[in-house]
Amino acid sequence: TFVYINDEFVDESEGKVSYTDRGYNFGDGIYEYIRIYDGNAFTAKEHFERLFRSAKEIGLNLEDYTVKSLTELIEELAEKNNVKNGGVYIQVTRGVAPRNHPFPEASTKPVFSAFSKSYERPYDELENGIKAITVDDIRWLRCDIKSLNLLGNVLAKEKATQSDAGEAIMHRDGIVTEGSSSNVFAVKDSKIYTHPANNLILNGITRRVINEIANELNIPFVEEPFDVEFLKSADEVIVSSTSIEVMPVIQVDDTFISNGTVGKITKELQKSFNNYIESNIEK
Ligand code: PLP
Repeated sequence: TFVYINDEFVDESEGKVSYTDRGYNFGDGIYEYIRIYDGNAFTAKEHFERLFRSAKEIGLNLEDYTVKSLTELIEELAEKNNVKNGGVYIQVTRGVAPRNHPFPEASTKPVFSAFSKSYERPYDELENGIKAITVDDIRWLRCDIKSLNLLGNVLAKEKATQSDAGEAIMHRDGIVTEGSSSNVFAVKDSKIYTHPANNLILNGITRRVINEIANELNIPFVEEPFDVEFLKSADEVIVSSTSIEVMPVIQVDDTFISNGTVGKITKELQKSFNNYIESNIEK
């Protein structure tokens, strides 16, 4: 299995980074996770544009890369590893330098790494839905940056796992923000509600596709804050991400949504999402 690190493809046993890498010491870096469907990188342009935005927001220099070079890179990695369906994870850190909080010297090269993995889409859960719990959103105030600092997300997801739930839905003082690794939607009276794409959430690429699909289906897409009570009284609840796509949530804490079944709008969105995937496969 190949990984890509510091400008070359190497065997994974050689994929090593320094103990003073700023990603390792400070979580000082950014990442993306891109889906591969049938050998094609899905919505790669959107993912890499978001990566460049994250880089800009934290003052990380990515001038050695372009959206095109990164897209070619991940497709090559997937091909080398024979990944037909799966994903590619990439991260960029502010580089290797003696441990000291301020930015290192300008000549410090960012450390870029990528690995791929193969797996099938989560068909069973997409059909039957998952359970979610609600937890306090204890994260910082720049959740729009896809940063390597994921401790708040990790602690939330661990709570979900301990409760036999597939996702933790976070809220700030009762206002639902997003999932530990997903965006959250409540469907009520045939409208889709989701938190506005501001500093409190990651503007998910899947969220943007859902927005586009909803517009095509003439389903109102309302970007307004709502609280946990509204979520639990919703007709349907959905979480979305690159890996879980349009995922139905049939239970939030002890409350069953739509009597524990997958709702009509969720199914419509899933169908359109499948078509969207199909239309983006080249070969
Ligand atoms: N929100 C958070 C905190 C995430 O970690 C993710 C994805 O990992 C998302 C939302 C969904 O983003 P995307 O649809 O781009 O995968």
